[in-house]
Amino acid sequence: MTAAPGGDRAGPFLTGLDIGGSKADGVVTDAAGGVLARVRVPTTPGPDGVVDTAVAALESLAGRLGVAVPQLGPVGVGVPGLVDPARGVLVHAVNLGVGGDGLDLADRLRARCGLPVRVENDVNAAAYGAATCLGLLDVDLAYLSVGTGLAAGLVLGGRLRRGARAAAGEIGHVPVDPAGPACACGQRGCLETMASGAAIAAAWPVESHAVPPAEALLRAAEAGEESAVAVRDRMADHLAAAVRLLVLTVDVDLVVLGGGVAEVGEPLRRAVADALARQAVEAAFLRTLELPSRVRLVGREPVAAIGAAALGRLP
Ligand SMILES: [Zn+2]
Repeated sequence: MTAAPGGDRAGPFLTGLDIGGSKADGVVTDAAGGVLARVRVPTTPGPDGVVDTAVAALESLAGRLGVAVPQLGPVGVGVPGLVDPARGVLVHAVNLGVGGDGLDLADRLRARCGLPVRVENDVNAAAYGAATCLGLLDVDLAYLSVGTGLAAGLVLGGRLRRGARAAAGEIGHVPVDPAGPACACGQRGCLETMASGAAIAAAWPVESHAVPPAEALLRAAEAGEESAVAVRDRMADHLAAAVRLLVLTVDVDLVVLGGGVAEVGEPLRRAVADALARQAVEAAFLRTLELPSRVRLVGREPVAAIGAAALGRLP
C-alpha cells in the first residue's frame, strides 16, 4: 500500500456525512466504525449548495488526515427528506432548499470527488449509526429521533429496514388527536405536533437561546416548577406513546432516543421511562413488556455521519 502523502494514515477509510439545514457533520472511520477524523461545516442551501457543502466537508476531512480526497474511501451521505437510496436522489428536503425537482446527489458528488457515493435518509443513517456505536447490530433496534420533527429508523437483525416506499418508521405522522394542531403533512394532531423539538419550543418558549427549550423545560421540571412538570409529563406521555407504538409494531429489543432534544440526556430518558411505567400501572399486558428498561440514549457521537459511513460501503 502506498503511504498517504503528508500523513502516516493510509486507510482503508470509510467516510460519512450528515447534511442538516444549518450544518453538516463529517467523519472518517476505520472499518470497525472508530472515528479517525471529524469536521463540521456550515450548510449552503439549494441543490448546488448541498453539493458544495459535501465537497467542502470532504476536503476538510482529507486535510485533517493529511490525505487527498480520492483516498477517503466510499462516501455515505445522510440527508433529510425523501431519498431514493438506489439512485442516490433526494426530493422534498425543505430544510436543505431542495424541492420537488430533486437533486441527484450521488451522481453529482461522485463527479466532483471521484469516490463511490451512497445517499440515505438521515434518520435511517442515524439508526444504523446508533446500532454501530452501541454495538447493537445483533439485536432489533428502533432509533427514535426527537429533533425539530419526530421520526424513527429501524435496524432489524443488523439490517436497515426502509419499507416498500421508504416510509418505515415515519411515526411522527401517526395522528393521535383528531382535535390537535394542524400538521405540515396535511393531517391534524400528528404525534410530531405533540412531541418534538418544535412542540416543546411552542409549549415552553425561552427568551434566551443560550439554553435550548428542551433543556430549560427539563431543568425547571426537575427543580419542581409545577407548570414545567405538567408540560414535561405531557411531552413524555406522547414520547412514551411513540415507544409503545414501535415496540407493539415490531417488538424491537430496544428503542434508542436521539436527535437534538435527546442531547438533554438522562433527564429525558428518565421522563420517558417514568411515563411508560405510569401508563403500565393499570395495564398488566404493558407491564409484561417491561418498556421502561428498553429505552436507551445515544451519546453525543455524530451517529448519522457514522451510520452514513458504515452504509456507504454496503453494495
Ligand atoms: Zn403529520
